[in-house]
Amino acid sequence: MRKLIAGNWKMNGVLADLPQLDTLAKAHGDASVDVVICGPATLLGRMGTKGLTIGGQDCHPIRSGAHTGDISAPMIADTGARYVITGHSERRTDHGENDTLVAAKTVAGWDAGLHVILCIGETEAQYRNGETLTVLHTQMDHSIPDAATAETTTIAYEPIWAIGTGLTPTPDEIAMVHADLRAHLTARFGASGTGMRLLYGGSVKASNADDIFALPNVDGALVGGASLKAADFSPIITALEQSV
Ligand code: PEP
Repeated sequence: MRKLIAGNWKMNGVLADLPQLDTLAKAHGDASVDVVICGPATLLGRMGTKGLTIGGQDCHPIRSGAHTGDISAPMIADTGARYVITGHSERRTDHGENDTLVAAKTVAGWDAGLHVILCIGETEAQYRNGETLTVLHTQMDHSIPDAATAETTTIAYEPIWAIGTGLTPTPDEIAMVHADLRAHLTARFGASGTGMRLLYGGSVKASNADDIFALPNVDGALVGGASLKAADFSPIITALEQSV
C-alpha cells in the first residue's frame, strides 16, 4: 500500500499562494508517497498545472443542475483534480451533512473517477465519554458505501477536538483507534478493507509527524493548517517518506 499525505487548504488560498506549490513540487515531485493538495475550488485548475496531485474538498451528490453555489464531482474532475474529500467535520458541522449525504457524495466522487478521502471523527464530549469507537463505527457503517475499495477510497480519522487546536490524542490512543478501524474495515470489506489507507488528521505538524507515522495502521495524514506553507508541509511529507 502506498502511503498518502493530503493537505487540506480549507477556505484559504488565492493566486498569490500558488508559488507554495512550486516549492513543494520541486522538493517532492517524485516523492515515494502520494502527495495531494486539496485546494479551494477557485484555484483547482491553476493548481493542477504545478506538477502535484490535486483534490477538491467537497462535492455535490449529483452531477449537475440548479444548485447555486455548489460544485459537482465531474466539475472537480474537469479541473484535472484526482481526489476529493467527503465528510469533513467542518462540512458535517457547518452544513449539517449527515452520513447518508456523505455516502451519496462519496459515490458521486467515484462516479467522476475521483479517489475519495472520507473523514470520520468524534467530538470532544464523545471522546471524554468514552464513545469514540461507537461513534466511529456508526459513521463508517453509514457513510462508507458498500462498494468502497482500497483503490477508490481512503478513510481519514480526524478527532474533531484535535482539528486546528494543537491538541492530539496520545500515540497509544491513535494506535488503538486505528487498529480498531482496520479490524472494522477488514470485517466488512475483506482484503480491500485491509488494504484501505487509514489517515490520521488533527494538528499534525513537523514536530509530531515522526511519532504519528511510526504507528501501525497509520498510512499517512490529512493536514490542515500545516499544509498552507511549503516550509511547514515539506518536513511532514519528508517524515512520511522516511517512515516507509
Ligand atoms: C483538517 O482540517 O483536516 C485538519 C486536520 O486540520 P489541522 O491539521 O489544522 O488540525
